[in-house]
Order: sequence, then C-alpha cells, then structure tokens
Amino acid sequence: MMFRTHLAFALLVGLLTMNLFDFNKYLFISLVLFSGIVPDIDYPRSKIGKKLRTISIPIKFLFGHRGLFHSVFMAGIISLVIWWFFDRLWIPVFIGYCSHLIIDGFTKLGVNFIHPFSQLHLSGFIETNGFIEKLLFYILVGCNVLIIIKNINLF
Ligand SMILES: [Zn+2]
Repeated sequence: MMFRTHLAFALLVGLLTMNLFDFNKYLFISLVLFSGIVPDIDYPRSKIGKKLRTISIPIKFLFGHRGLFHSVFMAGIISLVIWWFFDRLWIPVFIGYCSHLIIDGFTKLGVNFIHPFSQLHLSGFIETNGFIEKLLFYILVGCNVLIIIKNINLF
C-alpha cells in the first residue's frame, strides 16, 4: 500500500479507537499515524525508507521487505520497548503498527503475519497504487471526514 493509504487507514482506526482509552486525542492519533507508516522502514524506496535510508537499507538487507518488520512479532517488540520507556503509549503504537499490517494484507503481495516462524500469509486482490487502492484511499478519506464532522465537539 502507498504511504497515503496507510495514513488514511491509520487515521480511520485511530478515530474509531481513540475513545476506548483515556488519552489525549491528538497524541493518540499522532502516534497511531506515525506507527502506521513505520513498518515500511524495511523498504528503502518507501517514504519513510527514503527519509531514513541509513537504517532502511540494512533492515531491508537483513530482514527483507515485508519480512520481520511486517509481522506481529515486530509489532510486539516495538510495543514492549515503548511500554518500558513510555508506559501506556504502547497502546496507540501497537494499534497503528497493526493497522499497517492488516491493510497490507489486502494487497496481492500480502503479509505473513507470523514471519519468520511459520506461515500465516494473507493476501488480497489490491494492486499497490492500482485503481482499487486509489478508490480505497478516497473512500477512507470520506469515512474519516464523516467521522470527524460527526464528532467535531470531541476535538
Ligand atoms: Zn508495508
């Protein structure tokens, strides 16, 4: 999935889950959005990969694109580190990270959620940056706008 689709989906997930926890909403959404793009650090040509090439290239070399960094284990490891240093902030980080994995699971390339231990490979019919992804992006933006308008008093 493209950077913008990940952001739009992470925002949707963030908006739908922010009231379940007692957090500052802006902090919560910001963390969900940021962690929703982090898994693509394993791909130097992604937006975050380009920004952090010195980290991205060795990660791609060591773990491959959509390898360990696109697994629930890395979601768990990163959340554990965040929990250790920042306590409850692991919650939006975990939610954002998982949102990335879930929506990548709808692409043709798919995601192996329990890489490298076994196969729980999900893939779908969406071509990255194809017509359906573009359509999905606008649907997600539409949903986000509706949710924000409906809950405008919460912001
Ligand atoms: Zn990805």
